[in-house]
Amino acid sequence: YGDYNQKIDYVFKVVLIGDSAVGKTQLLARFARNQFSLDSKATIGVEFQTKTLIVDNKTIKAQIWDTAGQERYRAVTSAYYRGAVGAMLVYDMTKRQSFDHMVRWLEELRGHADQNIVIMLIGNKCDLGSLRAVPMEDAEEFAQRENLFFMETSALESTNVETCFLTILSEIYRIHA
Ligand code: GDP
Repeated sequence: YGDYNQKIDYVFKVVLIGDSAVGKTQLLARFARNQFSLDSKATIGVEFQTKTLIVDNKTIKAQIWDTAGQERYRAVTSAYYRGAVGAMLVYDMTKRQSFDHMVRWLEELRGHADQNIVIMLIGNKCDLGSLRAVPMEDAEEFAQRENLFFMETSALESTNVETCFLTILSEIYRIHA
């Protein structure tokens, strides 16, 4: 069961980027293992996790990369971006600064990644609605201008986590298959 003996039609590499503590690791844990931890980390060492899913009758292995804390030292290397066909640009919707930094992350991403990489902007921690510091319209406007998909998520409550990964993977499949 699981990956055992399964024929894989495609392997798609997707990278998570964004400031430290916005919830990248927890989004990945929620998607890949349906787990969440409130006192997470130091994410040390773990490079990526995989999850196999079916899109359009094809078996797709999503290989989702986490920065493993490198972003704290602004040391995300070009090896991290190499071969990526998708990117999740994550900010914390209760921290304005993490949204303002999306411009830089996008610049870095476009400087390193493939031309036709599929990018999704993610406002995480939407369970903390009363602490919202980034209006949805600001994010929508930025996403539209930069041609990104956009979704608000909560890794804590599982809101939109499956949906955002499925959306980006389906779009990647549409482009690459
Ligand atoms: P990373 O540095 O971007 O990988 O962030 P982490 O995944 O380590 O999360 C940083 C902190 O935010 C941890 O304490 C998490 O438990 C918390 N966190 C992550 N996602 C959510 C969320 O959706 N809602 C809430 N309330 N907290 C979250």
